[in-house]
Amino acid sequence: MGTNIDNKCKQCRRVGEKLFLKGERCLGPKCAMVKRNSVPGVHGNKPRRRLSDYGNQLAEKQKAKKYYGVAEKQFRLTFEKASKKQGDAGKNFLKALEFRLDNVIFRLGFANSRSQARQLVNHGHFTVNEKKADIPSFSVKEGQVIAIKKNSQKSPYFRNLGEKLAQADRPSWLHFDASTMVAKVLHEPKDEDLPQGINVQMIIEYYSK
Ligand code: SF4
Repeated sequence: MGTNIDNKCKQCRRVGEKLFLKGERCLGPKCAMVKRNSVPGVHGNKPRRRLSDYGNQLAEKQKAKKYYGVAEKQFRLTFEKASKKQGDAGKNFLKALEFRLDNVIFRLGFANSRSQARQLVNHGHFTVNEKKADIPSFSVKEGQVIAIKKNSQKSPYFRNLGEKLAQADRPSWLHFDASTMVAKVLHEPKDEDLPQGINVQMIIEYYSK
């Protein structure tokens, strides 16, 4: 994705919701949404403007894009692919976003945020089915095995991850073996594994115009 230079906390304040872009900080009292839940800028203390239907759909799309840290072109392409599949287009779309390798690395607990996960993938620290996988948008499949590359296992970053990995709250569709630090994609995310705060119907309406 192109570098998003917008301050991460400002992105949350702009959409008025926690997007969890800063790892552990997002869970504590230092979160900007806890300290100052207002629109950034000099007019930030005014009540939020009421948006048109189109404005709400656009805002929902922007929120989901920021949540997953995906650039517009890729986000739209993912949507178009998902809507061609059989079944519920919205759920297929969210499942496709969940199956991105950077998201999987984040969900496994290897990174504090999706942007950090993307960086780790970009730097070639992981393999999928024993082959180097350094493309964050790579879409994992059921049954695939995700591991830390041999050379990277020796790096201080991965050697010091023990406690963090032990505490990670992983979704049921990912199996993780703490002794080998190897993960497996068991199945597609179930409905309850999909982010509940995204109104995917509004995104469908936005792209259907
Ligand atoms: Fe958003 Fe995290 Fe910043 Fe809170 S700490 S405003 S959730 S990026």
